[in-house]
Amino acid sequence: MSIDPIAAVQVCEDLHAWEAGGAQSADALAAWVSARLAAHEAALAAMLAVNVPRTPENTLRFYDAAIEQLSLAGSQAGVLNSVAADKAVRDQAQLEAQRVSVAGAALSLNRGVYEALAAMRIEGCSPATTHYVERTLLSYRLAGADKDNATRAHLQELHEKATRLSLEFSRNIQEGAKTIVATEAELAGLPADYLSRHPVVKATPNAEGHVILSTDQPDMQPVMTFASSAALRERMFLAYHTRAYPANKEVLEQLLATRQEIATVLGFRSWADLATADQMMGSAANARTFLAKLDEASRDGALREYELILDFARRRQPGLADIDITSRGYWYEQFRRSAFDFDSQSVRPYFPYAKVEAGVLETAARLFKVEFRASTAPAWDPAVSVFEVHEGGKLVGRFYLDMHPREGKDKWFSAAPVVTGVRGRYLPEAALICNFPGGDEGDPGLMQYNDVITYFHEFGHLMHAILGGHTEWAGLSGFATEGDFVEVPSQMLEEFFRDEKLLQSFARHYQTGEPLSSELIRKMKLAGAFGRADGMRAQLYYTTLSLDLHDQDPAAIDLDRMTKRLHQGLQPWTWLEGNRMYASFGHLTGYSSNYYTYAFDKVIALDFFAQFDPNDLLGCDAGSRYRKTVLEQGGSKPGREMVRDFLGRDEEFAAFSKWLNEEFEGELVAAGS
Ligand SMILES: [Zn+2]
Repeated sequence: MSIDPIAAVQVCEDLHAWEAGGAQSADALAAWVSARLAAHEAALAAMLAVNVPRTPENTLRFYDAAIEQLSLAGSQAGVLNSVAADKAVRDQAQLEAQRVSVAGAALSLNRGVYEALAAMRIEGCSPATTHYVERTLLSYRLAGADKDNATRAHLQELHEKATRLSLEFSRNIQEGAKTIVATEAELAGLPADYLSRHPVVKATPNAEGHVILSTDQPDMQPVMTFASSAALRERMFLAYHTRAYPANKEVLEQLLATRQEIATVLGFRSWADLATADQMMGSAANARTFLAKLDEASRDGALREYELILDFARRRQPGLADIDITSRGYWYEQFRRSAFDFDSQSVRPYFPYAKVEAGVLETAARLFKVEFRASTAPAWDPAVSVFEVHEGGKLVGRFYLDMHPREGKDKWFSAAPVVTGVRGRYLPEAALICNFPGGDEGDPGLMQYNDVITYFHEFGHLMHAILGGHTEWAGLSGFATEGDFVEVPSQMLEEFFRDEKLLQSFARHYQTGEPLSSELIRKMKLAGAFGRADGMRAQLYYTTLSLDLHDQDPAAIDLDRMTKRLHQGLQPWTWLEGNRMYASFGHLTGYSSNYYTYAFDKVIALDFFAQFDPNDLLGCDAGSRYRKTVLEQGGSKPGREMVRDFLGRDEEFAAFSKWLNEEFEGELVAAGS
């Protein structure tokens, strides 16, 4: 083929799959992805054809253009796989995502590309370019690009197999929604708007009524929190935690075996050692050290919380020996109402979806000194709202909010890149794909406390993609930090929700317009703080499971036994037989052994937040400093350096431990009465 090096780095005109019809037609989507993959191949060919001494300008430039096309195709196939209305399009999007992964895996093993990058002279380059090159060469070595042909071919097969299994695992969860039947009596305790969304069906006027409930988040969560029927909670829990069982048991076993084989071929003891080698964490041993600190920081607080709740529950239900995992959320809620004189339902009228959205946007706009304007740009579905991000009169990014459940849409809450931003080439674009209440005509979408925190969290990711989307290279843009740094910006933004002044600026009653009172905020914060140590124990359980599954011989793993043993070792709540949570632990595909990321980044995020002036959160200079030293860097430097640049030192546990035990700072009312 003849190579036109200019064409190979040209800016792509066809930026959105849906503008090419890809949200409505499987064929159009396939054609759009094919065009991206062809441009990807052309850029690589141009890179390999260079026959003069290699420099970033004549080599990395092409490599980065190839990365750019791949991430464009992968991001949008991923988005459409989650949100497309038509099942045929979702199926196609899954195939396309797989095609992109296969191309990515092939690139990561491409010896010619590796040798070309390794041959570049990088003396005198910017620190970002040097970091990009060093990091890329490391990832090549971790992929085995320096191995012989036969080994590389074998590795490629294994990576393709792992990708296929991961997609199958996720898909089984996404499409595995179950339903359960509840009697009218079992709905006692559930809020009125939940009941009105689930009208009771009666076979005959005098028959006992029943309702059908799904395992989707908006149906499941209120049952686990409010339903006073233990039998209903148990049925919901089991349906929810078996929605991808038994199919995913075998898929997971094969996935673990495949990952271990990859690690072995590359000379690593375990997948966990391989998967942490290019992360901030560095090794499985360091991850264990971190987990031991987490264990120590959370142990006493969690036990104290459990004992308070158990004592409270026993006084209401004499003879209760212990509390099982299906009753955790329910007793928490009852305890909170009693001990804090706080009913989490009482704040929901102050969190109608539209007000929360306006509040999150306003907070981010002031904190990061940008402006958001509604846009009429097209998206994949009429339900999506599009916003432009402006700064100093200049357009600096665009984002998409797809915030409510829809038939066929996935059930998660996530932030996803849409267009990877590159300075002078592409404006960054990102999307939030969520399942918050609301979206239907006449439904105000009253949100729970945790929903609002989730909104702040996901918006933190979104701002990272946008503000970090102006780097010189696509490969350093936005989320391109080490994977175990990526939850810092999201968890940082969560903390702003706890500020009273800020909350009162947007939390208003959906009928009366009255602001959330200081008294209610105080109670809500206290109630919200209660259970943090226990919540961190739950994270520790998931985290240890994620590490243990990937840090030993998979042939010797009994999934049911391991899950139960870890639960019993790390959780005070009684295990329930029949719980197959591993089969729907969706994070195992993306995070594999590295689910510690959430807790690790929480420690960093809280240390970061402690640098802000509590009396002037949005106005103090920490906001600009944080934006500059962290968000704007994207992946231009190692996370370790960003932490030191912003803090002036490494992260410490002090702010985290204080946060974990905040509820015991004198205010906790003597448990119930
Ligand atoms: Zn996140």
